[in-house]
Amino acid sequence: MSRPFTLFNTLTGKAEPLSIIEPGHLRFYCCGPTVYSHAHIGNFRSFLTADLILRTAQAIGWKTTYVTNITDVGHLTADDTIDPSGEDRMAKALRSKEGEGFANVWDLARYYANSLIEDWRTLNLREPDVRPRATEHVREQIRAVEQLVAAGAAYQTTNGVYFSVPSFARYGALSGNMAANSLETAVRSVVVDPEKRDPRDFALWKMDPGHLMQWHSPWGWGFPGWHIECSVMAQLYLGPQIDIHTGGEDLIFPHHECEIAQAETLTGSPFARHWVHTRFLQVEGKKMSKRFGNFFTVRDLVAPSRDSGRGIAPLALRLALMAGQYRKPFNFTFATLNDSARHAQRFTDAAALVKGYTDRNGSDTIGDRLSDSYNRALDAMLDDLNTPAAIAAALDGVKVIFGARNTMSGASARAGIHFLEQINALLGIVSHESEDTTRGGVDPLAEKVEVLIEERTEARRAKDWVRADAIRDEISALGIELMDSSAGTTWRRKTELTS
Ligand code: AMP
Ligand code: ZN
Repeated sequence: MSRPFTLFNTLTGKAEPLSIIEPGHLRFYCCGPTVYSHAHIGNFRSFLTADLILRTAQAIGWKTTYVTNITDVGHLTADDTIDPSGEDRMAKALRSKEGEGFANVWDLARYYANSLIEDWRTLNLREPDVRPRATEHVREQIRAVEQLVAAGAAYQTTNGVYFSVPSFARYGALSGNMAANSLETAVRSVVVDPEKRDPRDFALWKMDPGHLMQWHSPWGWGFPGWHIECSVMAQLYLGPQIDIHTGGEDLIFPHHECEIAQAETLTGSPFARHWVHTRFLQVEGKKMSKRFGNFFTVRDLVAPSRDSGRGIAPLALRLALMAGQYRKPFNFTFATLNDSARHAQRFTDAAALVKGYTDRNGSDTIGDRLSDSYNRALDAMLDDLNTPAAIAAALDGVKVIFGARNTMSGASARAGIHFLEQINALLGIVSHESEDTTRGGVDPLAEKVEVLIEERTEARRAKDWVRADAIRDEISALGIELMDSSAGTTWRRKTELTS
């Protein structure tokens, strides 16, 4: 019997065994990105937390319903405090150099939403049951705002509709931001409207003729506030009360605090039982920022050439992002990435090794040790997603497989295959689960390298050594190492990386 599934709950400030509303059925929501650019590795570390909650719950036999949204309405966010123009992120992206290629903000949002899904698959994140988009749920958001107004918890001004914070006594319970002063500073920086009754009140609907997306509403043309989207979509697809709500630590306040106020006012009952927040990722000890030159998207690192990326295997990047527990400060470094590249290769090699021995005779000599490794990995995940301990346990199992290499029986090989499948289901670090043929789901380099290898084999067959060597050099420049054997040519990424 494994230990209970425990996660740290921001609401109570304690690690707690998950208490789920419908026994055996976990329902949870993860805040997705605003799609104004390619999501960065920090965003993905937050999405990985949700993915690992999903995998761990499934590993202990729970049914899961997992919803994560796409914010495709442009919003001002806390980051805009450093942007005196106060422009929304999507409008700004449209005016940028990258934005030149898009006819309008809708196309820009669609493009980056697709990019998100591709990168999602590249990192072997399981698909959610629903990935709702804010723009597809404006009607529901309008209805919720109408209900909040009718309940006396919201009011209209010339510029929009605001949630009245004093109407919700528990405001501040999640973030501990009870002092009116700090709330005032934080919220004021986002919405300035002299008609607001309380500086802490936040926008549910905004009227701004300059905004690029406009919908008709009972209050006039406008667009929904950011916070209302998540509580409405979570409740629509998961029910009025949910088990877990997740996001990065920056969302605790004001986003999640505001979500609680809206959702609980609408239903009169608690919204999410557990609030799980991922600490921010830093890169080489610094806040990730384009200004510091340490800002990375998945495609910056995984992209297929040395010019446009560093040629890192997608699962090595996934492993690197899991190298620290979600709740601890996390420093992403190229040293970690090198270690993870080696570890990812160990898993790939172990999988290739056991596959070759299944038709041998003999009894199983490693199954018990492998199940012990798996159980330790599962235990670590149940203990507040302790990913470093889980990865260490998985690597112990790989060591057992390599240790048996010279005497590997068919039964041991099958035990090895079973172990690696279990580890992959739990941690997603052995092989891609999706057979998707787009960039995601498969190694993005694979197609190109396979074609070049085919051409090189042809050249070698024709004894055109000059051409064969030229192709090898071309492949090498992509960061790929070739291994020729009597059975043919295989390849792998070179693991030595430099920042
Ligand atoms: P955004 O598009 O800014 O709303 O971000 C999408 C998700 O990524 C949110 O859950 C953020 O909290 C999270 N996030 C943003 N930056 C980081 C970071 N550096 N480390 C971890 N999570 C982050
Ligand atoms: Zn959200």
